[in-house]
Amino acid sequence: MWKYYPELLERPVPRYTSYPTAADFNNDVGAAELEQALAQVKPCDDISLYAHIPYCDQICWYCGCNTGRANRTQRLNAYMAALFGEIELVARKLGHHSRVKRIAFGGGSPNAISADGFAALMDHLSDAFSLADPVKSIELDPRSFTPEWCDIIAAMQIGNVSLGVQSFDPAVQAAIGRVQPLDMVSDMIDNLRSAGVSSLNFDLMYGLPGQTEATLMETLEATLTLKPDRIALFGYAHIPTLIPRQRQIDDTILPDAKERFDMAATGYDFLIKAGYQAIGFDHFALPTDPLGRAGMSRTVRRNFQGFTDDQSDILIGLGASAISEFPGYIVQNEKNSGRYRELIAQNQLAAVGGVKRSISNQVHGVIIEEILANGEADLTPLGSVSGKAEILAPFINRGLVEIVDQRVCLHESAKPYARTIAATFDEFRKASTGTFSQAI
Ligand code: SF4
Repeated sequence: MWKYYPELLERPVPRYTSYPTAADFNNDVGAAELEQALAQVKPCDDISLYAHIPYCDQICWYCGCNTGRANRTQRLNAYMAALFGEIELVARKLGHHSRVKRIAFGGGSPNAISADGFAALMDHLSDAFSLADPVKSIELDPRSFTPEWCDIIAAMQIGNVSLGVQSFDPAVQAAIGRVQPLDMVSDMIDNLRSAGVSSLNFDLMYGLPGQTEATLMETLEATLTLKPDRIALFGYAHIPTLIPRQRQIDDTILPDAKERFDMAATGYDFLIKAGYQAIGFDHFALPTDPLGRAGMSRTVRRNFQGFTDDQSDILIGLGASAISEFPGYIVQNEKNSGRYRELIAQNQLAAVGGVKRSISNQVHGVIIEEILANGEADLTPLGSVSGKAEILAPFINRGLVEIVDQRVCLHESAKPYARTIAATFDEFRKASTGTFSQAI
């Protein structure tokens, strides 16, 4: 059972889906750097693609994603045309050296577009890139899932599906503006399994308005009856100053920090006892799932999609706001869909920001990723660890962390503090707290 040390969770910290984090991006990096990074991809490199669909049929009040209402067909079609244009442009810059092993579709909700539109997207990707029997994954919104979409999932052999669930409690669903009954999710899962989906993920949340430990447990119990292969149990980050749609949420009924901690701890215990493998600090996977196997072999990675078994160091993001990662650069596309379309219409790469990763950034990035994904990291590349032992003393003294043979090792009880521990290796975050979310 985790022990609560509020003093260790006071400092807001990044989620570290990249290092340096998006808060450290600047405008000195853009299309020229993306072009250079694409040209440097070697024929032997494995590539992962991510395609962003920034639309949803209904917008949830808690959502921090770059997404808008899919209520204008013309706007959606214009976006898809730009996305097709970007696919061709990026593939040309990459040359013929692509060996695409993964394709992820996210957003937003990819099923905000029509099933036919999605088939056309797949056609463009397979025409433009050399697909090496890639693992395909997609995020789906149960509220807009149709039989046509089920057919296309089967036809495209998409094996990994992630569903936004958050909570099965009707009162919590009403409080977050996302009403989707258990039956709806249950029927969808039956259909997806019949369509050949072998890895199903549920996104769940704790710390939601009106949520209690008891209602979280009810959601987890209902979840187990549906047997997802993976579960992500995130803490809700309430930052209405940055995410205006969150102003619709009644912040007087949000759980406090201790209640959030207890929910995370109870959820963790419950899922471990149910046979899930803990992945990083907020993901869980069955031992039979590729992510569960990566957890057991300590080969979990972390990227913009969260914890993953994807081992590639090259992720090419396509679409408005999509982020590409290369060893030496992280590059982000224009976030505004209209401006994104204009750039592509001018035959320009849409990257407008990012960060150059120095050797020191890369070294620190590996340590941060290893701490978060696998609970231990080799500190040898940093030289002497004596200074680190001093900085980590609050965690070492509480029995959460050890330094053994130049390796920092986190105990299971350190999971809720993993982001704070990782932040001690963040070169950009010595003093500032920035505008990040609570550490749990
Ligand atoms: S469906 Fe997903 S991406 Fe769309 S608004 Fe809701 S949480 Fe955000």
